[in-house]
Amino acid sequence: MNELKPLFDNIELTHRPMVIAGPCSAETEAQVLETAKSLAANDIKIFRAGVWKPRTKPGGFEGVGVEALGWMKKAKELTGVLTATEVATKAHVDAAIDGGIDLLWIGARTSANPFAMQEVADAIAARNSDIPVLVKNPVNPDLELWIGALERLYNAGIHRLGAIHRGFSAYGKHLYRNMPQWHIPIELRRRVPGLPIINDPSHIGGRRELIASISQQALDMGFDGFIIESHCDPDQAWSDKSQQVTPEVLDFILDTLVIRDQTSTTESLQQLRKQIDELDNELLEVLGKRMRVACEIGQYKKEHRMPVLQAGRYDDLMSNRVKSAEEMGMSPEFMRKILSAIHEESVRRQVEIVNRL
Ligand code: PEP
Ligand code: MN
Repeated sequence: MNELKPLFDNIELTHRPMVIAGPCSAETEAQVLETAKSLAANDIKIFRAGVWKPRTKPGGFEGVGVEALGWMKKAKELTGVLTATEVATKAHVDAAIDGGIDLLWIGARTSANPFAMQEVADAIAARNSDIPVLVKNPVNPDLELWIGALERLYNAGIHRLGAIHRGFSAYGKHLYRNMPQWHIPIELRRRVPGLPIINDPSHIGGRRELIASISQQALDMGFDGFIIESHCDPDQAWSDKSQQVTPEVLDFILDTLVIRDQTSTTESLQQLRKQIDELDNELLEVLGKRMRVACEIGQYKKEHRMPVLQAGRYDDLMSNRVKSAEEMGMSPEFMRKILSAIHEESVRRQVEIVNRL
């Protein structure tokens, strides 16, 4: 994916952090217009609303459908916001493009499904449309599936692409509705460097109180922006009510975020990084030496028919080292983890040596 285009040519829309905001679902014309007006008054430029809602179980509110596209068009005419909605099928793509939607996103359940992704990619390509498309991470923590979904769009000629990090499902009750697993979007950034990645703190947190802290973490990790659910009357929302905030609260949250400058690496930071590089080299040297000594011990044990594992020795070593680490200001858990990883590898190597013919 080395010929990606910016999501929009208008730099004002994409400067960091870009913000997409709006209700989980378009419910009524009045709700769409009122929310869009307040968001636009607070300087939000891209308005989101779900027109077709993928629900876990049947019987819930599944979205208003095409009628809501007319309300979004009206919101755009009245306030000047651009509009964004979720698509999952060819019929959605055609209706959204016909309805004048400016940005499409692919939901987490759809990006997990290669058949659906291919259908959506082909449908957009068939329209010869230059519309930007954002792909949410699949519900399961599978980076290859996420990249595969993006590649299906890219290969169909859709080059205004971006990713949305909305967290990953996990069984049981947790602090987050969807686990952030930050290392996955960070690895996506490494694998596809030119791809904008925005964060969806609403669906990660599942609770409005968590939006600010998740957003700050995302900014600190270099994310390019946000998609945040905002509703004129959140407690009455027809879907995802506990995670939505009013446009005024959203404005307050965005104001509290600290945007740290990523580009200026100062001289002293470079010096410190050099020290880290040197220390890591020293660590590697010492580790290598330790492994060689462990192997010599293995050889000795073999010649003297001694067992590899001597529990007493390991316990002594661990408690001494953990004590010293604590005196040096490191946490005992951290030292235990490191020592047990090193010990495990030494034992594995010694067992190999002892069993060698
Ligand atoms: C949404 O954005 O409202 C939505 C349905 O999100 P997700 O696909 O992340 O569950
Ligand atoms: Mn939602």
